Amino acid sequence: GDVTRALPQVCVEAMHKAVDEMGDAASFRGYGPEQGYDFLRKAIIANDFAPRGVELDADEVFISDGAKSDCGNIGDILSPYCRVAVTDPVYPVYIDSNMMSGRELVLLRADEKAAFTPALPETRPDVIYLCYPNNPTGAVMRREDLEKLAEVLKGTGIIVISDEIYSELTYGDQKHVSIVEIDGMKERTLLINGFSKAFSMTGWRLGMVAGPEPIITQMLKIHQYGIMCSPTVSQYAAVTALRECRSDVEYMKSEFDARRRLVVKAFNDMGLTCFEPEGAFYVFPCIKSTGLSSQEFCTQLISSKKVAIVPGDAFGASGEGFVRVSYAYSVAHLTTALERIKEFIDELKK
Ligand code: PLP
Repeated sequence: GDVTRALPQVCVEAMHKAVDEMGDAASFRGYGPEQGYDFLRKAIIANDFAPRGVELDADEVFISDGAKSDCGNIGDILSPYCRVAVTDPVYPVYIDSNMMSGRELVLLRADEKAAFTPALPETRPDVIYLCYPNNPTGAVMRREDLEKLAEVLKGTGIIVISDEIYSELTYGDQKHVSIVEIDGMKERTLLINGFSKAFSMTGWRLGMVAGPEPIITQMLKIHQYGIMCSPTVSQYAAVTALRECRSDVEYMKSEFDARRRLVVKAFNDMGLTCFEPEGAFYVFPCIKSTGLSSQEFCTQLISSKKVAIVPGDAFGASGEGFVRVSYAYSVAHLTTALERIKEFIDELKK
C-alpha cells in the first residue's frame, strides 16, 4: 500500500520553511498542540467537510500520526465486551487489533457477487468498521448502499468507524461518498483519514480523525499518552497540500486510472477474472481457475518470477481464491510484472 510518486514541490518547500522556523529562536515551537495545529484542522474542515455539506466544529477533529495508528488505537477506548463487525475481506488491522483485545468479531461478508460491499449485520454489533474505497478489493460503497446501512443503524447505539484513507482515489463517474454525509450518521461515526495516499505522505506520519466531541476527547487522551502531538513539519506540508495541491491529486488520479485499466484488462485477458475496482489502487483478481490456493499462487509466483502480490486470504477467509495486486507502481514496472504473471499462468496451463 505504499506510494511511489514524489511529494508535490510546494509541500517540500513548506517543510523547509517549517524546519527553518524551528531553527530560529524567534519562531521556534516545541511540542505542537495535542489536537493538532488549528490551521490544519480548519483547513480540513474547509476542504474536506464543508464542500460535502457536513458541518464540524474544530473540537470534532484532531490530527493524528496516521490512519493506521487511529485504527489500532481506537480499541483502547472500546470495552472488551463490545461486539465488533468487520467486512470480510478487509485490511487486517481492524480484525487483528480487536482479536488482540479479545473482542467478539462478527464478519460481514463482502462477496464479489455484491461488488465487495458488505451484507447488513444479522447479529447486532456495537461497532462496525468500514473501509471504502476498499483495501484489498478497490470496491466503493455508493450512496444508496450507505443509506441502506444508515436505515439499519437508525435508533440503535451502534458506532461506525470509517477508514476513508482512499477517499481521494475514485475513478470514472464514481465520486467518493463519505458515510458522514448520510442523514443521522455524522453523530455516530468516527471518520479516519490521512495524507498518505492522496499526497504521497506515507513516511511523514500524519492522519486525522473526525467524530462526535465526546469520543474525540477520549481518543485525544490515547493520542497524548502515545505520541503527545503529531509532527509539526508534516502539518505544515499537509496544510499546503490541502490548499495548493488539488491539481496534483487530479493528475495522480488520472495516472492511477490508466494503470487500473491496464491491469484489469491484463488479468481478464489472462483468464483471471478481475472485478473492476472504482477506488483505491488495488485489483483483486480471482485465481480459482488455476486450481491453486491463494497462498500457493503467490508463493510460486514470487519464487519462480520474482513478482510479489498478496494472497487474498491474508484479508480474511472470503479472500481465498483471490490475490491482491497493487498498481501504485510505474507503468513500466506493472508491464514487466504482468508479462511475468502471464508467463507463470501459461506455464501452469502446460
Ligand atoms: N488504512 C488503509 C485501509 C490502508 O490501506 C492503509 C495503508 O495501506 C492505511 C490505513 C495506513 O494509512 P496511514 O499511512 O495514514 O497510517
